[in-house]
Amino acid sequence: MLQTKKKKMIATKGYAALDAGSPLLPFSFERRTPGPRDVQLEILFCGVCHSDLHQVRNEWGRGIFPMVPGHEIVGRVARAGEQVKKFSIGDVGAVGCLVDSCRECDNCKQGLEQYCENGAVGTYNSYERDGKTPTYGGYSKTIIVHEDFVLKVPSNLALEGVAPLLCAGITTYSPLRHWHIGKGHKVGVLGLGGLGHMAVKFASAFGAEVTMLSTSPSKEADSKRLGASKFVLTTDTANLKPLRNYFDFIIDTVSAPHDYSPYLRMLNTNGVHICVGAPPEPSQFRTMALIANRRSIAGSNIGGLPETQEMLDFCSSYHIVSDVEVIDIKDINAAFERMLNGDVRYRFVIDMATL
Ligand code: NAP
Ligand code: ZN
Ligand code: ZN
Repeated sequence: MLQTKKKKMIATKGYAALDAGSPLLPFSFERRTPGPRDVQLEILFCGVCHSDLHQVRNEWGRGIFPMVPGHEIVGRVARAGEQVKKFSIGDVGAVGCLVDSCRECDNCKQGLEQYCENGAVGTYNSYERDGKTPTYGGYSKTIIVHEDFVLKVPSNLALEGVAPLLCAGITTYSPLRHWHIGKGHKVGVLGLGGLGHMAVKFASAFGAEVTMLSTSPSKEADSKRLGASKFVLTTDTANLKPLRNYFDFIIDTVSAPHDYSPYLRMLNTNGVHICVGAPPEPSQFRTMALIANRRSIAGSNIGGLPETQEMLDFCSSYHIVSDVEVIDIKDINAAFERMLNGDVRYRFVIDMATL
């Protein structure tokens, strides 16, 4: 008689939203046993991204519940499959927003796995390549990932500050590199949160003149410390006039709906408004604000594996990490509320020892 042999699973725990209306609560679930090329990480720290909040509240739609969020993961290798080459037990590895992709399409072959033509596999709120096994993220004790999707973590950086580099870091590094932003450019960074503070750090490290565009007067001193040479309070429209035609690029990290037109008008000829913030609702802008000065509006999604490793190595050389507030996992729901109110300096990171 034909018998199907059930693969042994690994019991683990985390925090999950059982549905879009519920707070995160303790949750037990199973991970697959490591295959020959898999790495098992015992998670040390996981950053809290605004995308986690959008997704647990199902603001982007198509949410898969129960949902264990978290895609800014740093952990220690507890097990490695027999064919794993990059890692040994005890090494520190990191996982960002992706855990797999088709590896065959043109984008994957170029290391642009985030744009996989056959659909990359997200670290959570996604399905494995079989199309039916849900993925669970880093608000958990352990995760098992193919070694190709595990990054090497430089040894000279504080690990809690490294975790947010896996999303907030690469999401801002990638467009700055793509558009060759650096010396001689004037860059506006819109919104000083997790992504915004990394955009300021990277853009100033690349030699650009950085202006912080923020709704929070209390963040002025920090923006200067992070590398901005100017701070502009956007809630007072009188402050915006002197910035007409001023920037070469604006990096827009705002998580809530906002009109792009006032910011488009701040762009000089050929200027580009780069959207990385992903408000759930459709955005609006005046076409005339684009037509004038041949401006563009563009978007950028995280970064591929090679560029993510490049970013981590750059951070190692320039001693760049995220500014973090480390929290206990039991405080995650309060942290979400604070993030929603713009009250985070500048990334919450969960200490997974508290799980
Ligand atoms: P965050 O830490 O909450 O920062 C967002 C910042 O936007 C806030 O600190 C605030 O800065 C500003 N802001 C919030 N509400 C605003 C409003 N109503 N009007 C104007 N400004 C407002 O969030 P995050 O983790 O950086 O994520 C930001 C966005 O990027 C989210 O939508 C997230 O989903 C998205 N994201 C996209 C990618 C990608 O690959 N493209 C990757 C990660 C995240 P001020 O106080 O300075 O105004
Ligand atoms: Zn993220
Ligand atoms: Zn692909």
